[in-house]
Amino acid sequence: MTKPIKQNQKLAQCREDGNWELRIFHRAAQGNKSPRYLIKCGCCDEKVEIYYDNEGLEINGVLGSLENWRQILLPLLQRDATSVHIPSSPSSSLKRSM
Ligand SMILES: [Zn+2]
Repeated sequence: MTKPIKQNQKLAQCREDGNWELRIFHRAAQGNKSPRYLIKCGCCDEKVEIYYDNEGLEINGVLGSLENWRQILLPLLQRDATSVHIPSSPSSSLKRSM
């Protein structure tokens, strides 16, 4: 889990699946600070900050054990793409309440 993901840092890179490519910035551990991923939206400045170590993840200030995050995120991430609506052009079609 310490191997950095391939990092796109450019705005508005269109993926084959029709969504904007997320922008990823990795920072290695510094002193007593955990390593961090900063993940930015492909179309704007919205971002998620993820600090990680061997025991847990802190996502946007929410600290949880790896197992706890797994229970929540894995089912979401492992859904079959064909069962999910995929927009045909880059547009934020996810429904969210904000
Ligand atoms: Zn955006």
